[in-house]
Amino acid sequence: MSAHHSALPIAVIGAGFSGTMAAIQLLDSLPHNRPVLLCERSASFGRGLAYGTGDFGHFLNLRASNMSAYPDRPRHFEQWLARNALDLPPDEAAGVRVTPGGTFASRALYGRYLSEILTDTVTGSGPPRLRLVNDGISDLVPRPGGFALRTEGGLSLPVAGAVLAMGNLAGTGEPHSRHRADLWSPETIGRLQPELPVLIVGTGLTMIDAVISLRRRGFGGPIIALSRRGLLPNTHAPTEALPVPNLTGVDLRSLTALTRRIRAAAHAAGDDWRNVIDALRPITDYVWRSLPASERERFLRHLRPFWDVHRHRSAPPAAAAIADDIAAGCLTVRAGRILSIEDEPSRAVVTLRPRGAAEPERLTVQCILDATGIGRVSKTPDPLLRRLIDRGLVRPGPFGLGLDVDADFRARGLPLGGPLWTIGPLMRGALWECIAVPDIRNQAADLAAGIAAELARDEAA
Ligand SMILES: Cc1cc2nc3c(=O)[nH]c(=O)nc-3n(C[C@H](O)[C@H](O)[C@H](O)COP(=O)(O)OP(=O)(O)OC[C@H]3O[C@@H](n4cnc5c(N)ncnc54)[C@H](O)[C@@H]3O)c2cc1C
Repeated sequence: MSAHHSALPIAVIGAGFSGTMAAIQLLDSLPHNRPVLLCERSASFGRGLAYGTGDFGHFLNLRASNMSAYPDRPRHFEQWLARNALDLPPDEAAGVRVTPGGTFASRALYGRYLSEILTDTVTGSGPPRLRLVNDGISDLVPRPGGFALRTEGGLSLPVAGAVLAMGNLAGTGEPHSRHRADLWSPETIGRLQPELPVLIVGTGLTMIDAVISLRRRGFGGPIIALSRRGLLPNTHAPTEALPVPNLTGVDLRSLTALTRRIRAAAHAAGDDWRNVIDALRPITDYVWRSLPASERERFLRHLRPFWDVHRHRSAPPAAAAIADDIAAGCLTVRAGRILSIEDEPSRAVVTLRPRGAAEPERLTVQCILDATGIGRVSKTPDPLLRRLIDRGLVRPGPFGLGLDVDADFRARGLPLGGPLWTIGPLMRGALWECIAVPDIRNQAADLAAGIAAELARDEAA
């Protein structure tokens, strides 16, 4: 095809961090005659779920020095922050904290950084190649040369291929209760009574956000946070760079051997797990792929909560707010499992089995917030994913955590799939590290280079 003719676009579905950076990298990698459609259901492009919060008390859980959107410009966000921090109004300025463990910014500020990057791209010089489609994508119907991209608003657009960047999958919301509210839609929480507890299911970083939001909206009553093990995330602190451990085939044969080896490394490093987990970071995906499937399953069943609290740490200001709430007796962190929920008119009675207890216990709460994080693709109610799975264009990947992808992030289907790629948390399981900015920014660049090479090969054939 001549470079002067406009080629069919590549669509990117979802404009959170993953989709936005995939689209920007695609513009860099694809020939100039190939447009990119960035499709987003919500009104806000660039921010996604994590950085769409308007609450300046929600902090990034990584240091600012680690949050550049670009793999080849590691200080890009730090420099943006330094340029902008001086002009912030006081409430927003409180969203930048310098701590002994590093500088942490609010996620709302990071969202502004991403919006500016996207605006600069859209308004940049040269003919416009990035088109924003503000609509939900409901289907991708195979047609010669790609797909018909169908939108919830009734549009049908021909595309050469699509990148699925729809973010974390919602959980199933079980057991059901009409007193469940959506953490990310504060209006669903309604008016809270001051004395009855709010139950948060999950004790990780999302729970921390939920507690901070509830307090900022004036709820001073009791909060109970519940998870199977009741583990709270570690807090960021100054770290010491350790060498990447030199793991052998024997270490990677079983989870027991691997854990023994990593425990020994932690012991040698003065028992600061932060340093050990950081040292493992460059090889975490290699370790995940190398472990036998049965050992990966054991990891998911037994070790994952421990991994998560060491790997996904909270920003010091957020951790301090939670520690104060616990010390004041307003927040209780419990270990246990919900057995059932009975709804009453203005409250729910939750029956749970506390960890290690023989007898169940009943809690009366006014509202239940799900902070467990991630659903599984095999159980997803998402209509687009369901259609793609039913049509055999994609299939669940290892353990049903996300979609099956090959080394070039191409979605694997039955038998061959189509020109569909995936980025971000939807790849969880096939990859382990694909949910945080430092991984996604690299993967977005690799994905774009791979798509450009594949399209060039197809055109040359
Ligand atoms: C609360 C929270 C805090 C986090 N904090 C950090 C942090 O500090 N540092 C870090 O590195 N990582 C953090 N993460 C991890 C986070 O997963 C990534 O940083 C990144 O934001 C993931 O972006 P995403 O684009 O994949 O997903 P999302 O942000 O969820 O974006 C997906 C987008 O797709 C859209 N969409 C979905 N389906 C459709 C459809 N059918 N049609 C059109 N649009 C659709 C959604 O509306 C959404 O905007 C956090 C995650 C969460 C949930």
